[in-house]
Amino acid sequence: MNAPCQTAGKAPLKLLLAAPRGFCAGVDRAIDIVELSLQRYGAPVYVRHEIVHNRFVVDSLKAKGAIFVEELDEVPDGAAVIFSAHGVPKSVPAAATTRGLEWLDATCPLVSKVHRQAERQTEAGRHIVFIGHRGHPEVIGTLGQVPEGTITLVETVADVAKLAFLDDAPLAFLTQTTLSVDDTAEVVAALRVRFPQIVGPKAEDICYATSNRQSAVKTIAPSCQLVLVIGAPNSSNSLRLVEVAERCGAQARLVQRGAEIEGAWLDGVDVLGLTAGASAPEELIREVIERIGEFRTVEMDQVVTAEEKMVFKLPRQLVD
Ligand code: SF4
Repeated sequence: MNAPCQTAGKAPLKLLLAAPRGFCAGVDRAIDIVELSLQRYGAPVYVRHEIVHNRFVVDSLKAKGAIFVEELDEVPDGAAVIFSAHGVPKSVPAAATTRGLEWLDATCPLVSKVHRQAERQTEAGRHIVFIGHRGHPEVIGTLGQVPEGTITLVETVADVAKLAFLDDAPLAFLTQTTLSVDDTAEVVAALRVRFPQIVGPKAEDICYATSNRQSAVKTIAPSCQLVLVIGAPNSSNSLRLVEVAERCGAQARLVQRGAEIEGAWLDGVDVLGLTAGASAPEELIREVIERIGEFRTVEMDQVVTAEEKMVFKLPRQLVD
């Protein structure tokens, strides 16, 4: 795509638009689940935690009648509640069932796959070393799939050095889906050196959307002075895109809305990269491009590094 999109009189700017970018199949499915639940059950429908980490998406669903809460005890009896795309500990659906709440699970199927792997490894008698970011809802959800004391979180290579397992302990590793591909490879390598018997998933748990978005940034960032990543500060995959761009030698900034962008950011920038995390909608890309056009005459090139055709099935309650 080559699309000059602004007026004369402004300095030219080459914009490299990464593809794939933005919404993934898990986010599309989670938003569909909220919208279809509103149709089926009527407003309000409760959602435990931000359905995906994007304020624009959350606000649009609020406007349609979704109510976002952090814990189940904020959901009134008799209401329908949806669990976010990040997944929840097993105790959450169990508590919802005990209360007789109608619940729908918008956990991304790729996160659910990690949950099942965790159960299988525990059943096989292996202690799990889980690579992820402490406190992220996906990590809380995955740690909560198996009994306490059977899973240990590591975030870095330094954490691996501190693990106190016996050299021949039965171990398995699993990972959060939205990590840096390169950092995770280093942590896994460190685990394999310390514990050669450790078993892991055949294909890594980092999801297709996360790795495709990182590859696209690796392709454009070396030609850019600045890369803008549209995403929220609590969006793990968006933060990783900023890091990837910086490691390629570009400056990088996370932005949530076009209005945040200041003209001075573009001083000295001839080539600008643009991408979006998996929870950022295409409307925000358009908004950001429009904003950049207020300062510079943009010539845009879309750089496509992969095609994505993934679609996930909806929960049974919404298709019957
Ligand atoms: Fe699923 Fe990956 Fe999207 Fe997360 S980023 S919702 S794991 S496809």
